[in-house]
Amino acid sequence: MSYDNENIFAKILRGEMPCHKVYENESTIVFMDIMPVSDGHVLVVPKSPAENIFDLSEEYLKEVIKTTKLLSHAMKKALRPSGLIVKQFNGPDAGQTVFHYHMHIIPVYNGALNTNHGYEMEKPEKLESIAQKIAAEI
Ligand code: 5GP
Repeated sequence: MSYDNENIFAKILRGEMPCHKVYENESTIVFMDIMPVSDGHVLVVPKSPAENIFDLSEEYLKEVIKTTKLLSHAMKKALRPSGLIVKQFNGPDAGQTVFHYHMHIIPVYNGALNTNHGYEMEKPEKLESIAQKIAAEI
């Protein structure tokens, strides 16, 4: 599959679709997952048109990891989870559903989570309030 410029994250990056932004720098943007697995589930998205780990350059991968670490610390302070999952899917068989590379950061509260994706859209007010809580700790 080749990179599709019309995928939803490409549209968010171009400002054509809204998101609840938590953080942004020159190479990455972080926003709330619209169907969170848990409260505080965010996505770290590189500003590079790459579908998966095979296509994304090492430079951008490093930037994704740096932002992931920054956000992990902020989330730990802001949300006080008992654990934090950092993961990323490559290809439909691996569970990837949006074909622009992204890293999930998923807080866990008192017990293991056993699902890859959320199933319900979260209320925008709740996503925005959690986004601001995390952003305040960066
Ligand atoms: P993947 O399976 O590709 O790793 O995960 C894609 C993630 O993007 C899913 O967790 C899904 O809930 C999230 N998602 C899908 N569409 C949108 C959207 O329009 N906005 C936001 N913020 N997240 C989305």
